Amino acid sequence: MPGSAMHNRNRIIPFPGRRGSPRLVVCSVCLRVHVDGAWMEADDLIRRLRTFELGDVVRLGGALCEPCETELRVRRHSDSETLAA
Ligand SMILES: [Zn+2]
Repeated sequence: MPGSAMHNRNRIIPFPGRRGSPRLVVCSVCLRVHVDGAWMEADDLIRRLRTFELGDVVRLGGALCEPCETELRVRRHSDSETLAA
């Protein structure tokens, strides 16, 4: 059986986080990236910073952008009204 030669999807690939490697804040919902006080699309930022050419893996920090926060707040509010009715 060729099981041992198969690709293991559960294998964890280690990326050593080195001091000084770039860190970006990303919205956990829409995946936009917070840069210079504004949220921008990830693909635009990748092209701008050329992260694919960096030697280090970019570290990501989770956050919630203002539009997603507002949308979630409105959705939660409307859900609670539906439940109360
Ligand atoms: Zn967002």
